[in-house]
Amino acid sequence: MTPRTSGELVIAIDGPSGAGKGSVSRAIARALGCRYVDTGAMYRAVAWMAVHDGLPLDDEVALGALAARVELTLKDQTVTVEGHDVTGAIRTAEIDAAAARVARMPGVRDALVGRQRAYAAAGGLVMEGRDIGTTVFPAADIKIYLDASPDERASRRASDAAHGMGGEAAALSEVASALAARDQSDRTRPSSPLVMADDAVLVDTTGIALDGVVERVLSIVRERLDARG
Ligand code: C5P
Repeated sequence: MTPRTSGELVIAIDGPSGAGKGSVSRAIARALGCRYVDTGAMYRAVAWMAVHDGLPLDDEVALGALAARVELTLKDQTVTVEGHDVTGAIRTAEIDAAAARVARMPGVRDALVGRQRAYAAAGGLVMEGRDIGTTVFPAADIKIYLDASPDERASRRASDAAHGMGGEAAALSEVASALAARDQSDRTRPSSPLVMADDAVLVDTTGIALDGVVERVLSIVRERLDARG
């Protein structure tokens, strides 16, 4: 596909953990020549910094202030917080749970949503998360909601080496129950819960290989851009 982006093109990719958002979003961004932003990494980075600094994970005021001031960079797939390369350290079972916990706090969300919106000023963007099409960019040009069966999401997550839970260390049942707990927290929180935007296109990735999903999403993007003229 010919790279085709306007300065304002924003593609929102939302959905639960293990639906394939990361791999799909990166491939779409590459195909379109857009920037890719993983907002989950931002919640994870705040959680990592809080744990590193020994901040209590129930202190909403301190965590909101941390999310507002922490120096945080996302470059390619490298995540840096206050000069620490935390790319691997933020993808552990401990940080999975801590990130879902801090993500419930409106003060943390407000601070990170402000930072997420600022990325659009720099040009075309593929942003993945839970609330991109509903809260961060409700006027996004294209909204995709990726989903897959709970069993498939858990087995993808269990074999995801980048996540540090691969190999024999994590039993599939453990991964599945941690994932279900996180889903429950993300879907039921009062502040920006995980919900599909009314105008999002649902793509069920169950049983479909990555290439097939990327193909499907790119064809949705192409149709939308063609319709816009
Ligand atoms: O996508 P990822 O699993 O890395 O996200 C980690 C956590 O960050 C999620 O479980 C969710 O609680 C939170 N999150 C969020 N809103 C986003 C992205 C992630 O609440 N836009």
